[in-house]
Amino acid sequence: MPTYEEARSIVLENVAPLGAERVETGRALGRTLAEDVAAPWSLPFCDNSAMDGYAVRADDCRGPARLKITGYIPAGGIASVGVEPGCAVKIMTGAPIPAGCDAVIPFEETEEAEGHVAVKGKVAVRQHIRFRAEDVREGDVVLPGGSPLRPAEISMLASLGKAFVPVYRQVRVAVLSTGDELIELGETLSPGMIINSNCVAIAAAVRETGAEPVLLGIARDDLASHAEKITEGLKADALVTTAGVSAGDRDLVREVLAQMGVVSRFWRVDIKPGGPTAFGMKDGKPVFSLPGNPVSALITFEVFVRPALLRMMGRKRVLRPLVKATLAGEVRKKPGKVHFLRVGIEVRGGEYYATSAGDQNTGILRTMVLADALAVLPADKISFAAGEKVDVLLLG
Ligand code: AMP
Ligand code: MG
Repeated sequence: MPTYEEARSIVLENVAPLGAERVETGRALGRTLAEDVAAPWSLPFCDNSAMDGYAVRADDCRGPARLKITGYIPAGGIASVGVEPGCAVKIMTGAPIPAGCDAVIPFEETEEAEGHVAVKGKVAVRQHIRFRAEDVREGDVVLPGGSPLRPAEISMLASLGKAFVPVYRQVRVAVLSTGDELIELGETLSPGMIINSNCVAIAAAVRETGAEPVLLGIARDDLASHAEKITEGLKADALVTTAGVSAGDRDLVREVLAQMGVVSRFWRVDIKPGGPTAFGMKDGKPVFSLPGNPVSALITFEVFVRPALLRMMGRKRVLRPLVKATLAGEVRKKPGKVHFLRVGIEVRGGEYYATSAGDQNTGILRTMVLADALAVLPADKISFAAGEKVDVLLLG
């Protein structure tokens, strides 16, 4: 049985980025850049003022000075007048620096009267000027392929005039629930029935990665129903099923996947919750069979599916960083498996503190709701003292 790291490596070795497409830069948030982007021009485009003030010659301001105001350059204006010796040109933030000027003095450090400006303080050469190309030089690769597009990258792309941007395609993920006990959300609940919450929960988790869920509904516990839904699911870029993957006589998912030509890469992982998870491949498409229990389904999605979808969408960094947190109370577990403990996180004095979010039984969804993170408790250890540091995987 693989450890969760081994199982995750198997998943990641089997998936690769899908193709690329061009999208509007304004709609590219959260997508991943598919090609290097080089600057078609320098930023700033020309020398310009960093302050509202006066464009001067620093040489004229070695001591207290009184300069004649000979012009005005507003933001968006052009520097049609130069700065002659003994003179100053009023200038606004962002306006181009006129010829002769080698410093800008902010209004706050001056006094204007009768067409002249009095300068009291010290003036350094180059002060308050943003120089051409000091940010980005024409031809520089400013954003390498694989960069996730955050507001900062969108800002850079827009500043460089890129109205469209090449990004990796979103993964279309088919989401299938299985089980005779399931009813759809909105139907009336009766004893023995369970609302198909996994479908919406997994779809939400898919959306959170930036991928696009395709909801397949419910496969009933018979071979024909499974075969029909799985055939449909294999048309997407990836398939995620929940339930029916344990060893019960009505657990049909693995059997039908095998019939459809999905090659199993692992079944069962050395973790709790999430032990019965299965993973296979068909024609380059990953198929994840997650346990039915809603807590187990979300945790195994986090550990195995999320990194795979991110890689398929071109991300270089697909794993959340593990951070150290101090346990606020004692924790005990059985030996043999890695446990993902649902914990609440508090930040005190810049450090993370983890407290069990509640009953760790996999049937307790409430504990998942109260959790901010999963503490990754090593297989061989059984007890963890209050004050001990453990690895945690911050969720969201
Ligand atoms: P199974 O893996 O089929 O044994 O299911 C394990 C548990 O998860 C059972 O209690 C199921 O009722 C529950 N379960 C299975 N599928 C879903 C689903 N789609 N939504 C919510 N709970 C489910
Ligand atoms: Mg079942």
